[in-house]
Amino acid sequence: MDSMAIVVESVHKAYGGIRALDGVSLAIEEGTVFGLLGPNGAGKTTLVRVLTTLLKPDRGRATVLGCDTVRDAVALRSRIGLAGQYAAVDQTLTGYENLEMVGRLYNLGAAEARRRAEDLLERIDLAEAAHRPVRTYSGGMQRRLDLAAGLVGRPEVLVMDEPTTGLDPRSRIELWKIMEEMVSGGATLLLTTQYLEEADRLASRIAVIDSGRLISEGTPDELKSRMHGDVLEMTIADGELGKAEEILGRHGKSLEADPATGRVRATVAGTSEALSALRAIDESGVGIADLQLRHPSLDDVFLALTGRPAEADDTRPGPGRRRGALAGMLGGRRNRNGGKGR
Ligand code: ATP
Repeated sequence: MDSMAIVVESVHKAYGGIRALDGVSLAIEEGTVFGLLGPNGAGKTTLVRVLTTLLKPDRGRATVLGCDTVRDAVALRSRIGLAGQYAAVDQTLTGYENLEMVGRLYNLGAAEARRRAEDLLERIDLAEAAHRPVRTYSGGMQRRLDLAAGLVGRPEVLVMDEPTTGLDPRSRIELWKIMEEMVSGGATLLLTTQYLEEADRLASRIAVIDSGRLISEGTPDELKSRMHGDVLEMTIADGELGKAEEILGRHGKSLEADPATGRVRATVAGTSEALSALRAIDESGVGIADLQLRHPSLDDVFLALTGRPAEADDTRPGPGRRRGALAGMLGGRRNRNGGKGR
């Protein structure tokens, strides 16, 4: 386990009757990006808080850089960084003053703190606004500054809780570059995100958690290959979605059907199964407006495992949106445990 930056062993944490973490175990290799995915309320933030010493587990233990997150919390704090939902910047100071102050808190000399502040402000595209008070910044600018504050101390492990939520595409790409640079310099990055494209691009391994349990873990390709097939997605003519779903159920597994748009998603074993499903739909007289046969995306994996589409804004799905449970096909731990046991 020497090359592991983070080791989580059977961590439990409950809030009253809510089991936020229900026996989570995982290990994250040094110098990699690890993506932690899960629907709202899955337990991601609770795990982030445990790993960053902000919360004690009820049972189990976690070590970061070999330090126990409870026993060695003080020593650990100077070696890890947290960015995202909790990091805060001082509204009355300028962007530059904020970063310089964080540098001094990390015991950097005055010249080095200034140099790092200037460098980071340049990289997050805030050099022009550097000497304006933060209260005059837009939401996206504050978010970028917040993230830069997490980078000032050049932490060996950086935990980022939904770091790019609310960022415009350009800032997001800029931030991805910074993360990639950090990792190529040897840092380890734990990233929670609801943008699956982000996890797919950055993370070498991904864990999906739901209701406080780890339900699948692997490389993005391993998770996709556990779907054992391709995804057939189509738009069905008005009022015939139910019939199409029923036929698809006979030829594959229905993942999701959305009456509002007429879209239906199903997994099929391969091209010949897709063709027989299409033939059967055609013969039944159900009209298909458009269709697509493709390899599974991480979004399909997420939907299959959690029964919910992944979105930063969890206001979808609309009423009546139906999902088929597919977790069994994926060999996730939920299945091996014989159900979620609640
Ligand atoms: P999100 O994506 O919405 O941030 P999450 O995966 O980060 O969700 P957590 O914030 O870890 O999930 O929450 C896990 C569960 O624990 C949820 O049911 C949540 O309501 C509950 N919970 C979290 N913090 C508290 C708290 N301080 N008191 C009571 N319940 C809590």
